[in-house]
Amino acid sequence: MTDFSAKKHFPYFSDNAKQVYLDSAATTQRLGAVIEVTRQAMAENNATVHRAAYKKASEATVAYENVRQNVASWINARQDEIVFTSGATESLNMIAAGIHAPMLNGTKILVCASEHHANLLPWQALASRLDLSIEVLPLEQDGVFSEATWERWSTLVTQDVCLIACAHVSNVLGNIYPVKALCQLAEQNQALTIIDGTQALAHLSVDVADIGCDFYVFSGHKMYGPTGTGVLFGRYSCLTGLLPSKLGGEMVSAVSYERFTTQNPPLKFEAGTPNVSGVIALGEALYFLREHMTQIVQHERTLCKLLMSRLKTIKHLRVLGNPLQQHGHSTNGNPQDTIGIVSFVLEQQDNHSIVQQLWQEGIALRYGHHCAMPLLQTLSVGACIRVSIGAYTDEQDILRFVETLQRILRQSE
Ligand code: PLP
Repeated sequence: MTDFSAKKHFPYFSDNAKQVYLDSAATTQRLGAVIEVTRQAMAENNATVHRAAYKKASEATVAYENVRQNVASWINARQDEIVFTSGATESLNMIAAGIHAPMLNGTKILVCASEHHANLLPWQALASRLDLSIEVLPLEQDGVFSEATWERWSTLVTQDVCLIACAHVSNVLGNIYPVKALCQLAEQNQALTIIDGTQALAHLSVDVADIGCDFYVFSGHKMYGPTGTGVLFGRYSCLTGLLPSKLGGEMVSAVSYERFTTQNPPLKFEAGTPNVSGVIALGEALYFLREHMTQIVQHERTLCKLLMSRLKTIKHLRVLGNPLQQHGHSTNGNPQDTIGIVSFVLEQQDNHSIVQQLWQEGIALRYGHHCAMPLLQTLSVGACIRVSIGAYTDEQDILRFVETLQRILRQSE
């Protein structure tokens, strides 16, 4: 099977040893190193950044800017293309609010059918502000992405498209979308591309230069880091064109009573006192991912295959999407074929009650619309059960979950 074992790095599992945590797509558990560095940054080393010359403040600035450098090199971007935010939601809202008409060639926004509300609502607001239309990149029955889907998408990316918003990985379906191919099509048609990488960063290596996107966003708390941290990557030329939607201290180079001149990116987008301890602690999550990514990819793939093979034996269980990829598009040259998000519905069963019974047995997973209401409406399911794994999930977790589910189902017969 797989002998990678990350639980020891996560204090949550010493305190909750009996729990099976299968809700990593909602939030991952925090690394011990992240917790410790947060404590240090708040206790012994508390200072804000970019402002003062005393030792603690300049050390905090160096630590904060080091993380920017590490994020940049991890996703293959430039340091001045990395903006720190409070999370993917804020990153996406900042992009949508900062886009103005001269940045757009065309009148149509394309959004993938499975987008999280965070990568849909800001585009609805932009469409209404600039009088644009929204069209959906559709999926097949049950949310499957196939070669046929890609053929349909290719015909929809035309000259009148000004912007494409798509997740790298769907938080509901686990589909890994061919974002590189999509960005190539967009570029041929001069459309901006916004890739939501929130569910990707903890599970696969991301190379934004190779993907060729204009913007890429993610959240710290979905990659073993702290809540309240996030990243907005923007191609430098796009960041210079984007208007800052947050105004205030630090983001300006000159101010008079009548007007101001902004700093260059990235500081142009970091008004106010940032989440200094959060960003510094996010750096610890990056070290972990860097060190273990090859093993994580292998480990999660093995667990996901095990999970899928066991779920297949359960009657009336309908898996949504294709969590084990079947289409031929690789994402960005990455061999990863799953990131361990599996959603399903149990037909003829009270799904909500089953999830509650699972929780009574110590198994934490998610039931609901997963902030993707339009997708679930299209799939004609009101809600679904989602299992999502992380680096700390092990074979015992998967087996205990499936055996408990089978027992609950037998009892309800
Ligand atoms: N995008 C995707 C694909 C997500 O799964 C989520 C959160 O679940 C978000 C965006 C929003 O992330 P956050 O709540 O951290 O801003």
